Amino acid sequence: MLSPAIHFSQTGTLMSMHSSSFFALRSIALASGLALAAIAVQAAPDAKLLAAAEKAQPAVIDNLKEMVQIESGSLNVEGLLKMADVIEGRLKAAGFKTERRKTEAGAGADIVIGTRKGTGKRKIMLQGHMDTVYAAGILGSQPYKVDGNRIYGPGIADDKGGIAVMLASLKILADAGWRDYDTVTVLVNPDEEVGSVGSGELIATTADLHDTVLSFEPTAAKSVAKGESLLLGAAGIAQATMEVKGRAAHAGAAPELGRNALYELSYQMLQTKDLAKDIPGVTLNWTVARATGPINQITEKAQALGDIRITQPGAEKKLNEVLQAKIASGKLIPDTETTVKVEVGRPAFVAGAKGRALAEKAQAIYKEIDRDLALTPMTGGGTDAGYAGRSGKATVVESFGLAGFGYHARDEYIEVDSIVPRIYLVTRLLTEIGKQ
Ligand SMILES: [Zn+2]
Repeated sequence: MLSPAIHFSQTGTLMSMHSSSFFALRSIALASGLALAAIAVQAAPDAKLLAAAEKAQPAVIDNLKEMVQIESGSLNVEGLLKMADVIEGRLKAAGFKTERRKTEAGAGADIVIGTRKGTGKRKIMLQGHMDTVYAAGILGSQPYKVDGNRIYGPGIADDKGGIAVMLASLKILADAGWRDYDTVTVLVNPDEEVGSVGSGELIATTADLHDTVLSFEPTAAKSVAKGESLLLGAAGIAQATMEVKGRAAHAGAAPELGRNALYELSYQMLQTKDLAKDIPGVTLNWTVARATGPINQITEKAQALGDIRITQPGAEKKLNEVLQAKIASGKLIPDTETTVKVEVGRPAFVAGAKGRALAEKAQAIYKEIDRDLALTPMTGGGTDAGYAGRSGKATVVESFGLAGFGYHARDEYIEVDSIVPRIYLVTRLLTEIGKQ
């Protein structure tokens, strides 16, 4: 992290560079309104918000340390409740009313919801998750550790960094007297890493009551990506289950009396394996097969599971139709019965044109502090932005969390020098959204 003094002098250079290049290019830009507009959006940073973001950094690191030292795997209810206490306390300090809701399914931890009423028009929701993928005891081998620009710890990027950015940004805006919104709602769930089975519906229905949703998953660190980014799309997940009922018989004495469910399952898997290739926005891979034994019996029952990824909402319905039709079209073994079903988990996230427009606003804000922000169109990993954007009502953009790496793996870390830019981005963007 640059010291404030250096940062400000750099900012000063940046500003004068912008204004001189503006005048130098104006004659060229006269021929092109587009170029002029592109230069005009590179405004000077909001000095107050930038100074507040810089001042907040030590407190953000304290908050990260506090949260990382609470183990909060998706099944660790005790840890998740401690996390909820921390988040609730900080929301209250930023002027929010808070409530807890039990998840509808799963381990039974709490969802934290904070609301604050303002005097403006827009309804804005911020979301993150407090659970991690790690088993209890992880801090023994993966402790909180500061090393130069990196701070290590389980869940520090995914998603405690996102929560810390969100909480710090709201505190800064509260202290600055920002009220230019109708409602700001914060929703932090405890089960994202297990598919949000007990909170996804609440996320979807709450998001529908808002104009804009900012989601705070991490962005990739410098070691793995060229630069920071926002995310505009993520695959949805579904599961296909195929079941075949055959007839058992002695495999040695009377195999002709049996109807081999395993053979039929193999046939049906092969005849359906490429069906998704003709449907835009969906993939299917049969990945698990099971059959009843024992080895000396003609297989009575067999089952296959297929991994389905959805990048266009609704594509899984089309896949289901063609699967049903194909299975009904013929069989290898007479007298066997095959069924197939498609069950959707987390929906696909597609930011669409309005999400992209908001992300472009974020890009312009990053330019104010001389940083580039890439827009990633689609990732294979799922996110709760899929629930938030399910109906298409709210404008949803993902990845406002800290730059980091190693999530869902080992040696998870965040980059300290992403803290100030991310807080600046979120505070500036919220004030911009409020003006709309
Ligand atoms: Zn996450």
